[in-house]
Amino acid sequence: MTVHQEEPWAEVGVIGGSGLYALLDEVAEVRVDTPYGPPSDALFVGEVAGRRVAFVPRHGRGHGLPPHRIDYRANLWALRSLGVRQVLAPCAVGGLRPEYGPGTLLVPDQFVDRTSGRVQTFYDGLPLPDGSVPEVVHVSMADPYCPAGRRAALEAARGAAWDPVDGGTLVVIEGPRFSTRAESRWFTANGWSVVGMTGHPEAVLARELGLCYTSVALVTDHDAGVEAGEGVTQAEVLKVFAGSVDRLRTVLFKAIGMLPADRACVCSHALNGLTTGLPGD
Ligand SMILES: [Zn+2]
Repeated sequence: MTVHQEEPWAEVGVIGGSGLYALLDEVAEVRVDTPYGPPSDALFVGEVAGRRVAFVPRHGRGHGLPPHRIDYRANLWALRSLGVRQVLAPCAVGGLRPEYGPGTLLVPDQFVDRTSGRVQTFYDGLPLPDGSVPEVVHVSMADPYCPAGRRAALEAARGAAWDPVDGGTLVVIEGPRFSTRAESRWFTANGWSVVGMTGHPEAVLARELGLCYTSVALVTDHDAGVEAGEGVTQAEVLKVFAGSVDRLRTVLFKAIGMLPADRACVCSHALNGLTTGLPGD
């Protein structure tokens, strides 16, 4: 990995583990500060499929940050401040149906928020550390994910012979504990597909900055209420994730190349002409 020092910028952001960018030839490590404090780690900026990409290790390099302690605002703001407009967000999830076993790749089209106490907006009417007060904004979340990003992720997975599940509902729980069997059965009974800990408020905050956001969920285990499963263990999750990192990287890198250079999706109009105050607005 070569570290170099020219002015950093990127158009695509990837929020995920360090296994994703570790093999890139040239990566600039960029420290970014935000009005909300520093992001989970430095951003790692490099080139993938002819596109400038910034990677954020969601949990920090040493995986020291549990999901409920991540500063999601700082991560999204930092990406946006480098110029990022489209975000791909891989995450590990539990399958809520027997057919969604370990190794399943699912590109959700909905989420349900079961988190508590997480800061989930940039527009809370409070002054920023620099004294400015962002306007209150209510963004639409009817369709929380970018249609163009979802298409790219699905096509990339199919191209890598990894038949993806197109659509489904991601339940986001507070964690860091896993679900009880009763909670898990309740999620399944509601028709929801997979359960994770990081998809909210990440998707909301991306929308609030007018960013495209696409969640790419890798099933690492059956959740506790699914008959096929014995209940989740951390060791199981880490093992499946480690075994799929190469494959996931291939899919994400292909997807990056398939993202449209000019955005024609609804995400870019999420703010209805309001500005974030960031450069380029
Ligand atoms: Zn979009």
